[in-house]
Amino acid sequence: MKGTPSMGEKSGKKNMIYCRRCGKRTMNLNKRKCASCGFGKSRKLRGYKWNKKLKRR
Ligand SMILES: [Zn+2]
Repeated sequence: MKGTPSMGEKSGKKNMIYCRRCGKRTMNLNKRKCASCGFGKSRKLRGYKWNKKLKRR
C-alpha cells in the first residue's frame, strides 16, 4: 500500500471515539477532547487565532 497503510492496524487500542457534537470519530479519550471541533472538557469550539474562518460558520 502507498501512503497510509490500512488503518485497521490502529484499531488495537481504542483511542478515539465518536464525538457527540460533530459526529466524527475524533474524540480523544486521553485528552477527553474532540480533535475536530474541540468538544470536551471545555464546551467551547476549538479555535485558533490563525483560524478565524472556523469561528464564523
Ligand atoms: Zn467533535
